[in-house]
Amino acid sequence: MKIDLHTHSNRSDGTDSPAELIQSAKAAGLDVVAITDHDSTEGWQEAGWAADRIGITLVRGIEISTKLDGKSIHLLGYAFDPQHEPLVTELRKIIDGRNSRLPATLERLRSLGIDIVADDVRARSANAAAMGRPHVADALVDLGVVKNRDEAFERFLTPGKPAYVDRYAVDLPTAIGLVKAAGGKTVLAHLWSRGSHRVLTPDRIGALADAGLDGLEVDHFDHSTQDRAELGQIARELGLVPTGSSDHHGTGKIGFPLGGNTTDPEQYRRLFDL
Ligand code: AMP
Ligand code: ZN
Ligand code: FE
Ligand code: FE
Repeated sequence: MKIDLHTHSNRSDGTDSPAELIQSAKAAGLDVVAITDHDSTEGWQEAGWAADRIGITLVRGIEISTKLDGKSIHLLGYAFDPQHEPLVTELRKIIDGRNSRLPATLERLRSLGIDIVADDVRARSANAAAMGRPHVADALVDLGVVKNRDEAFERFLTPGKPAYVDRYAVDLPTAIGLVKAAGGKTVLAHLWSRGSHRVLTPDRIGALADAGLDGLEVDHFDHSTQDRAELGQIARELGLVPTGSSDHHGTGKIGFPLGGNTTDPEQYRRLFDL
C-alpha cells in the first residue's frame, strides 16, 4: 500500500487541477493520497469526485501557514470539518494577508526595474485561492527575468531578498488547537527545512505534542538522511506519528515526484485511528 500525505493542486501553488492531481497519483501507483493546498480546502470537492471515479483513497487535508517565534512553520491538517467557523475565519485572514501583500511585492520589484502588474500574477493563479509568491515567481519566468521558481525565490522572494514582504500567519499552537477543535489531525510539515530546526527543537516539539500535535513529517525531500534519523527518534520518544510525503507541486517544484516519499501503512492507520 503506497501512501502520500502532502500534495498541492492549482487551488494553491501546484500546477495540476485537483482532478489531474488525483489522476497522476493513481498513475504513480498510490493507493492513498492527501490533497493539502496552502490555507484552502477549495480543492476537496473536485478531488473527491475524481478519487471516487478513479478508485483511490483521498485524504482531505490542508497546509496552514503558521508562525513560531517569527519563523514561518507549515502545519498539515487532515480530516477536519471544513466549515468549523473559528478555523474558517483564521484561514480567511491568511488568504487575505497573502493577497493584500501583492502590491508591496510588485512595488519592490518595480524599484528594481522589473515591471510586473497584478494581472500578470493573476494570469498565473487563475484557479488559486490566493496570489502567492510562487505565482509572482511564475510571472518573473514569463518576463524572462529568471528561468524557474527556484531562481525567483533565491534572487528576490525569500526573507532577506529585495522583493520579500512579510504577511500574516497564525500562531502555531493556535493553529493546532483550531484543527483539533474541528475534529482533525495535525502534522508538522517538513519541520527541519529552511533553518526551522533552530526553532523546532526537541523541547519545543514536546510542548506541541502536549498541545495536541499528532505527527511529524519525517520523510521529506528537504530533510537529509541524518535529519530523518533524528526526527524518527524524536517521534518515537514523544509518541508522535512519523509520516512521509512528496510535497508534490506538479511542474511548479522540480524534484518532488508523487510518491517520492511515502507513509508507512501502519503509521497511516495510527494517525487516523483506523
Ligand atoms: P507565500 O505563502 O505566498 O508566502 O508562498 C509560500 C510558498 O512558496 C511555499 O508554500 C512554497 O511552496 C513556496 N516557497 C517558499 N520558499 C521557497 C523557496 N525557497 N524555493 C521555492 N519555493 C518556495
Ligand atoms: Zn507550496
Ligand atoms: Fe510547505
Ligand atoms: Fe507543501
